[in-house]
Amino acid sequence: MHGGGHFTTNEVINLEKNTCPNREDRAGFGIKTYFGKASNLVKESKKGHIEHIERAFEQTGGCVFMFTTLRLYSIRNAVVISHAPVGCSVFGSGYRESMQHLPPFLDRPPQWDLHWMTTNLSDSDIIFGGTGKLADAIKEANRRYSPQAIIITTSCASGIIGDDVEGTVSSIQPEVKAKIVPIHCEGHRSPIVQTGYDAMWHGFLKYLIKKPEKKQEDLVNVLNMFSYTWLDCLEAKRLLRKMGLRANLVPDFAAVEDIEVMSEAVLTASFCPTFGDYVMKGLEQEYGVPYFRTPSPLGFKNTDAWLLKIGELTGRKEEAKKVIEEEHARWAPQVKTLKEAIIKLKGDGSIPSVIGALGQGRMLTHTTFFKELGLDIAASLTLDYDGLFVEELEELIEDVGDFDVCVNTFQGADQTNLVQRKDPDIYLTCPFKGGAYKRGKGIGWIHTLRPMIHPMFSQTFYSGAISFAEMAIRTFKNRSFQKTLLNKTEDAYSEWWYKHPLPYLIFGEVID
Ligand code: SF4
Repeated sequence: MHGGGHFTTNEVINLEKNTCPNREDRAGFGIKTYFGKASNLVKESKKGHIEHIERAFEQTGGCVFMFTTLRLYSIRNAVVISHAPVGCSVFGSGYRESMQHLPPFLDRPPQWDLHWMTTNLSDSDIIFGGTGKLADAIKEANRRYSPQAIIITTSCASGIIGDDVEGTVSSIQPEVKAKIVPIHCEGHRSPIVQTGYDAMWHGFLKYLIKKPEKKQEDLVNVLNMFSYTWLDCLEAKRLLRKMGLRANLVPDFAAVEDIEVMSEAVLTASFCPTFGDYVMKGLEQEYGVPYFRTPSPLGFKNTDAWLLKIGELTGRKEEAKKVIEEEHARWAPQVKTLKEAIIKLKGDGSIPSVIGALGQGRMLTHTTFFKELGLDIAASLTLDYDGLFVEELEELIEDVGDFDVCVNTFQGADQTNLVQRKDPDIYLTCPFKGGAYKRGKGIGWIHTLRPMIHPMFSQTFYSGAISFAEMAIRTFKNRSFQKTLLNKTEDAYSEWWYKHPLPYLIFGEVID
């Protein structure tokens, strides 16, 4: 279904269209299921074809709508309207509440009300159309909050009935001061959730990002997302400030005007290359803003390279070198102690192993970082994989050697099978999903999300590398949680599953 095609190089972003192509079409292919060597993934990608494997079942999964809308809720001075049945929209309220708890002493901006609405499409709207409700919701959002932007996210329901969202927007826009931004993220439009991120950036490029009035020579766009923490954003600001630059962190927690001025920046950098790929290309194409995709600033070596790239591309190479030197002096004693402690963790001279990553962006950078810490790569997990990052994956293999990759959209059964088969000492997983349960001696270790504000939850830059290393050591020392899980919970899977030769079931396979 998603195999075939070729690696796209000279892509043109077409802003005449209402939305972007799906990620699997942009990239030549996109897959959600794979287990094997990273080198084989590169080999198959270069042939321009990766066989798509149909899973027999999925336990969990987020849709394009869900992933996209989560990126939008925290934008200040805006209202997000989910043009959807209320069931699709319901997770929004929980997200909003968790974000309210960021304390003002951590640079929380004073204007912090986040606004989220839904058109609550009903059975009759599905039959007779929902554009009337959408028009009413836009007017109501404008009346209640006087926002600078009203962002509409489309769902399966509004997509399938073919609601004319653009027509509604152009007829209402003259009555509303806020800029209306439709984003086509129908849940069913693509199995690859990165499509939603591309669609979000397409909407911003088409409707919200302004033509530059002037170049802001010290402004650098830094694309960040929910799975990095508030402290990571503060650290990006601190490090760039030391180089005489201002970090324009978008879209999570950005104000509307931060997005509008992205065209005036001198560079676009990112925490995650797959998340930011589309807008980086769009900003370069439309406004000549240069960009670089990798590395992400995860780990010491990657942070050095990230800062140096920014220095090179903004004419501040010497400033970058100075910052790196100062930061190394600050963190070096701690790094040395932590690396020494990690080597001794197992007590028998053997190297601790890790299953890490979570998305293809993290796979490209975490893996280097784990090697840097002195850990052995048992395998790498990724949500999905597409043809946009073949060269980067090849470079990674050259750097750290070949390793097993499991592409699995956070499926708990896959992860449990993989953990059983690889028996890693550390297993990094996602807070949303099951599968953290580990039979045996290893350690489940979740990665953090934006509202977690204790320094131990930092992920990026030197401070994040330190907190990751400390967490690894801490979890080795205290295994109570794993022991309790092991002793107090029933195993959800049979021995048959643990002996299954692949960490997933293929459609049509006989289950005995
Ligand atoms: S109905 Fe569609 S848009 Fe709504 S949550 Fe389900 S997959 Fe996502």
